Amino acid sequence: MAIGYLNGKVISSSDPVLPIDERGHQFGDGVYEYIRIYNGRAFMMDEHMDRFFKSAKAIKLNLGQTREEIITVVNDLIERSGLADCDVYMQATRGIAPRNHLFPNVPASISMTVKPFRAMDETLRKNGAKVKLLPDERWQNCWIKTLNLLPNLLAKQEAFEAGAFEAVLVRDGIVTEGSSSNIFLLKDGTLITPPATKHILHGITRIAVLDIAAELGIPVEEKEFAPEFIFEADEVFLTSTGIEIVPVTSADDRVIGEGNPGVMTTKIYEAFMKRV
Ligand code: PMP
Repeated sequence: MAIGYLNGKVISSSDPVLPIDERGHQFGDGVYEYIRIYNGRAFMMDEHMDRFFKSAKAIKLNLGQTREEIITVVNDLIERSGLADCDVYMQATRGIAPRNHLFPNVPASISMTVKPFRAMDETLRKNGAKVKLLPDERWQNCWIKTLNLLPNLLAKQEAFEAGAFEAVLVRDGIVTEGSSSNIFLLKDGTLITPPATKHILHGITRIAVLDIAAELGIPVEEKEFAPEFIFEADEVFLTSTGIEIVPVTSADDRVIGEGNPGVMTTKIYEAFMKRV
């Protein structure tokens, strides 16, 4: 059963609880996390918590709860939901206060939902996904997982309307990441991904993939590359908590590699699934 949580109370995930002066709603003044639960257990909870606290600190938001307290809430909610495979979203905002750009002196609001896992269309993984290259119009601090996702949404929608699964963003001639995923290439046996600068979200799945590459003895280079490099790659794939690892077989309607999910991508995906 899907359930929700707001500031210490377990609620129904469909309860209408949004106060008019909630800053998340008025300003997008907050941060969030998304954690996958496999078989009743959170995957890479520590890494997600590290990022949640890092994001909150970056926007000078005091969560008012310890990491252990938040983990306890998450685990309690998972148990109450009775769901084995589910999605946990948590949002922290700068609370409820009359509209003012200056920070109010009120406690942060923390909300969560636990809902059945929304599975992706598996034919994408089998056949590979299309992507569309689009300008990265976001701000300078994309490493912070903020609630302000408007440029991401606009890019994803534009890609979707062009028949693509994901927008791959380009800033100053350099590929950064997907609108809601990180990007990896394979070229001559080396795994290449943009470095974890402030212009990308430091994906948790990205961490797992880099670790798997080390385990499998695949050489890795974290380096910047131009969009043209995507067309010359042997294999391309996207990563995120929700989609895990998805092969990309065309970009801007140009075929990548053989036009099929690559052998190395499949190998890395299988290693990932072993971990989860
Ligand atoms: N980049 C962006 C912009 C994202 O929104 C996401 C998904 N949260 C990712 C990368 C992938 O991150 P993760 O593997 O932690 O889900």
